Amino acid sequence: MECPFMAATGCSYRGGVCYKIVEKCEGCGRIVEVTSGSYCSACPEPSVKWKIKNCNLATHVATVPTEAKVKINPLKASKRGV
Ligand code: SF4
Repeated sequence: MECPFMAATGCSYRGGVCYKIVEKCEGCGRIVEVTSGSYCSACPEPSVKWKIKNCNLATHVATVPTEAKVKINPLKASKRGV
């Protein structure tokens, strides 16, 4: 499996290893299971992806699109009959 962190001298990611998936990753389609455990095929350190909010690469979490805020000029809106 190709990895962007792999350099000629070995893994260039923090600690030189990939970190195992976290509990919130369970059910994600990007999980790769090998003999040493379960890892993410998209991110070397899954816990970081869940630190602030939901992982943006997760395949098992539905994302709700946020409503685009459109600034409406009240004068123009009244002329349009909105
Ligand atoms: S893509 Fe996100 S949710 Fe899926 S295994 Fe990787 S870190 Fe976990």
